[in-house]
Amino acid sequence: MPGFTDNDISRQVSLSPQGSSSSVQVSRQAVISMGIHALHEIGSDSICHVCIANGGSCCQGCRYLADGIGCQQRNTSCTAWLCGFLKLFLYETGLLNTWYDFWDQVPGQDFRVDFTPEVMNVTKPLQLPQLHRLSEALAADLHELARSHIAIGFILTLREKIDKQLDELEHCRHSRHKTNQVKRNIRILSSPFHRFHKELDEYRQQASWSTNFP
Ligand code: SF4
Ligand code: SF4
Repeated sequence: MPGFTDNDISRQVSLSPQGSSSSVQVSRQAVISMGIHALHEIGSDSICHVCIANGGSCCQGCRYLADGIGCQQRNTSCTAWLCGFLKLFLYETGLLNTWYDFWDQVPGQDFRVDFTPEVMNVTKPLQLPQLHRLSEALAADLHELARSHIAIGFILTLREKIDKQLDELEHCRHSRHKTNQVKRNIRILSSPFHRFHKELDEYRQQASWSTNFP
């Protein structure tokens, strides 16, 4: 993933002509940078590192992947896309809807390519907190799971199952019974992530403390 700074983003984001604070004009490149920045903030790199080491790279077989360099065609679609691990991470930290809400504003997403216009207006921001402790905990759990299971690709199968359940949760949000069932499935699938859940408990306690005592 290419490096960039907050200044790079602010140079590419400008207020809309109306000067409205609720609608901001952004470039396609800025949107991509914001997405990468948000992933960097939550610490997705450590999770990807374990996944890739176990043969799970989501860039596998892509013609834009250059050996030893990485992606040569970063686009909005791949930046917005979440695998099961990252979806679970954002779901458990209560940030999944923030992610979806932001990317729903970005048109032209496709598979490994985008048709996003060079400039667009967005009303919802994408600001995710630094969650490196949590992502490192999940990465450590994944590493441990991959090491202790003889079955090749164990964590990748788990990733797909979690992904399916989280998609299902999106689709069944109007049925309380089904929602509870899917949430239970997610709890079962993520039960081996002991370090992650321990960090999550602390994170949630801190979050509720700062809500109650701002
Ligand atoms: S599938 Fe997920 S964890 Fe694996 S490399 Fe892609 S984004 Fe990272
Ligand atoms: S275009 Fe997407 S899938 Fe292909 S290398 Fe870039 S990020 Fe990976």
